[in-house]
Amino acid sequence: MRLNQATPEQLREWETTLAEQYQAIQQAGLSLDLTRGKPSSDQLDLSNALDGILHGQYTDSSGTDLRNYGGLDGIPEAKTLFAGMVGVKPEEVMIGGNSSLTLMYFSLQTAMHQGVSDADSAWAKDGQTVKFLAPVPGYDRHFAACEHLGVELIPVAMDDNGPDMDQVEQLVQADASIKGIWCVPRFSNPTGVVYSDEVVQRIAKLGNIAGPNFRVFWDNAYAVHVLNDNAPELPNLMDYCRQQGTEDSVYIFGSTSKITFAGAGVAFIAGSPANLTVLKKHLGFTSIGPDKINQLRHVAFLKDSATLSEHMNRHAAIMQPRFDAVLSSLRSELGDTDMGSWTEPEGGYFISFDSRPGLAREIIALAAGAGVKLTPAGATFPYGNDPDDKNIRLAPTYPTVSEIEKAMEVFVTCVKLASVKQALAAS
Ligand code: PMP
Repeated sequence: MRLNQATPEQLREWETTLAEQYQAIQQAGLSLDLTRGKPSSDQLDLSNALDGILHGQYTDSSGTDLRNYGGLDGIPEAKTLFAGMVGVKPEEVMIGGNSSLTLMYFSLQTAMHQGVSDADSAWAKDGQTVKFLAPVPGYDRHFAACEHLGVELIPVAMDDNGPDMDQVEQLVQADASIKGIWCVPRFSNPTGVVYSDEVVQRIAKLGNIAGPNFRVFWDNAYAVHVLNDNAPELPNLMDYCRQQGTEDSVYIFGSTSKITFAGAGVAFIAGSPANLTVLKKHLGFTSIGPDKINQLRHVAFLKDSATLSEHMNRHAAIMQPRFDAVLSSLRSELGDTDMGSWTEPEGGYFISFDSRPGLAREIIALAAGAGVKLTPAGATFPYGNDPDDKNIRLAPTYPTVSEIEKAMEVFVTCVKLASVKQALAAS
């Protein structure tokens, strides 16, 4: 069904048929949810061995009793494990709590008020406006953190290689109040894009173009979250920064939220020793030390990169059928139409769907009316404002395959109904 080839008469017929299908679906009384990127219980079960794995051994390799206070920046063996995960040196890792989002917020807040180096480097010094670049579509919680702290967000376009670097460089050169950029470089939320080698190289150079207080917030949340063995690798940002002498311009974040337990994992920040020294100093005012027992549990469980990779393959085996359920519905129902396009990621947690401009809100409202909850329209843009009203984030990990199949039946019907109505109105 191609809208641009249909006569008004055909469109009216399609609308009648689709409205009937929609009503039938409504009567089924569904209650399904494709909103947040949470691991399914089957995925959580993969890590149940964490519980009790220490068998009463609470000391790390240096003999420190991890049940006690201290160790603010993490235990050495966990630093080594996470350094391998994001391609930095162990001494470039600081571990803290269970949520990388907390570390991102903490780093933002510290940069705003205490400074990225000394007090003079505080972004919000003398009430200056602070701006951040936000590649779109992106992650709503990144945007929310900035909005909460009064940081103005400037959207930047993304393509299959990552952010539009011409735009990024021009903006950063022209406006010294731009202090940072959000990046989800591997299996970006929500498009699943992996940044290309050229993009990563150009990001490593930003530290030389922007002022010394600029920071790239490199949220590598899906660093090892592949759906197949051939998924594209992410070029190593820190290696490129070393070549450019810009190691201080990046904060790298990660966690095991979607590796082990989303609510009881381990989070970390990686960066240059200079950056970590500053952050550690300020972190020391919030805590005497993180949960080091959980760090040791994670080391005992995930061990090394080979064991981690086997573990992630077990996640992939659970997730792939869920992604397939979404993609096969989109391909078979919308593949031959001009009603939308979507990404087919090789990792991460999301599929990004673009409807015809002006329809995302309506599609989401129609789906809600038929018992299927979707991420709110605009959520993937700063201030909830998708200028084309077309992007919809689909999160297939949590529901079962049969729930996804039912939800997708509703989704594609809503896309078709909204598209046909729009075409009719324009005809
Ligand atoms: N970053 C991104 C890009 C995410 O998608 C998520 C979870 N949806 C997070 C961070 C949250 O990470 P954490 O659980 O470590 O706070």
